[in-house]
Amino acid sequence: MQKNDMVTVTIEDIGTDGEGIGKVDGYTLFIKDAVIGDVAEVKIMKTKKNYGYARLMKIVKPSEYRVESPVCRLARRCGGCQIQEMEYARQLRFKEEKVRGNLMRIGGIREELLDKVMEPIIGMEHPFAYRNKAQFPFGTDKNGQPVTGFYAGRTHDIIANTDCALGVPVNKEILEIMLGFMKDYGIRSYDETSGEGFIRHVLIRYGFTTKEIMVCIVINGRQIPHGDVLVQRLIGLEGMTSITISPNTRRTNVIMGDRYEVLWGKAFITDYIGEVKYQISPLSFYQVNPVQTEKLYELALEYADLKGEETVWDLYCGIGTISLFLAKRAKQVYGVEIVPQAVIDARNNARINGIDNAEFFGGKAEEVLPEYYERYAGEHGGQKAYADVVVVDPPRKGCDETLLRTIVRMRPDRVVYVSCDSATLARDVKYLRGDGYEVERVRAVDQFPHTVHVETVCLLSKKAQ
Ligand code: SAH
Repeated sequence: MQKNDMVTVTIEDIGTDGEGIGKVDGYTLFIKDAVIGDVAEVKIMKTKKNYGYARLMKIVKPSEYRVESPVCRLARRCGGCQIQEMEYARQLRFKEEKVRGNLMRIGGIREELLDKVMEPIIGMEHPFAYRNKAQFPFGTDKNGQPVTGFYAGRTHDIIANTDCALGVPVNKEILEIMLGFMKDYGIRSYDETSGEGFIRHVLIRYGFTTKEIMVCIVINGRQIPHGDVLVQRLIGLEGMTSITISPNTRRTNVIMGDRYEVLWGKAFITDYIGEVKYQISPLSFYQVNPVQTEKLYELALEYADLKGEETVWDLYCGIGTISLFLAKRAKQVYGVEIVPQAVIDARNNARINGIDNAEFFGGKAEEVLPEYYERYAGEHGGQKAYADVVVVDPPRKGCDETLLRTIVRMRPDRVVYVSCDSATLARDVKYLRGDGYEVERVRAVDQFPHTVHVETVCLLSKKAQ
């Protein structure tokens, strides 16, 4: 098989990035945008010894799982959604199978055990307009006019679109105001190549419960010319609560600057997950799908099985979201988080909820927990630092092994592992299973419909010795 060859192929599987996989004469092809079940005509783009990449040219026979007209007309070109053209129920099955596959292959868990412990994935009833946060890059079109939208997959080409189907409707109104303002006053978008121009990104956050809106404009400079006019236009929107700028003059891919300034209103918006209230500022991390986050945390809480007397450690706690959920049912919660501002937010969130049994430490989980454990052990006559339950919610790379080692030495009754990457989850589960723990329950939660990402909650219990 050679570059530019056209072949017809039946899509039999889905790759980890959502691409279709098919075979021609035993040779494996990866085809972006092809849906499992499609029969498609494809053009070979790149060949390797055992596999190649092809482009979808024509669908000869559409899969029964193919959505006839996707909600977003840009679904295929935009880098935001990878699998919007696959029907939602099939997306869920794909994600569940991905978690299962990783737990088997990487985690070494036998199929019979998985059949027993895996619970059905929790999907969304209405899998659109779910994001409470969006960051829109600004650029310039062929006619020199400012545009905004999303990056095409793997590039920084902007696909003009103010109406993303995963975001809230007010995004469009805000972006149209921004574009109108820029045109009226001749304010240019930032140009990554030359480093010139002014408006880099606009961050929008929306409180699903409170209906409060935050707009943060990332600028290549220190002040927005005619900022008062922009503020006047934006505050016409119902719910506008916080308008800020974040100066970022660095030549970098990092979106936000390292500080922000209030132009109008508050420095934060408030929102709720369940009954817990959170203040969210432009730079804080906050889960982007509030509907599913509540289900995710409820599940973590259910797996933690707290009776009110427990000591719980919540590692990688962010702004304390899970910690505060747990605190209502535990005796004491300790959170550990690496980002200093998030630790400040976590303490503040505890305070505004009147929660006084949650304490937060800044630092790396793999350093703070072992140190605390050793020190406590020394100071208290051999009595070790104690945990009934340990919750971890690490970034994609998973837990550091030093941390896992400390956890198994502390011997909590239960470890609740919240994961955004089931491959590293499986790797860490293997470690814990090798040292006195067994998987009791596992369940995937779909936080990001139409993308290939999936969250998983896994309960491990201490084995009887
Ligand atoms: N549990 C929180 C945040 C999860 S995201 C929530 O649900 O909102 C993972 C968090 O881990 C981020 O806040 C990140 O800053 C933090 N983090 C990354 N590496 C870390 C480390 N080595 N030690 C502690 N926290 C870390």
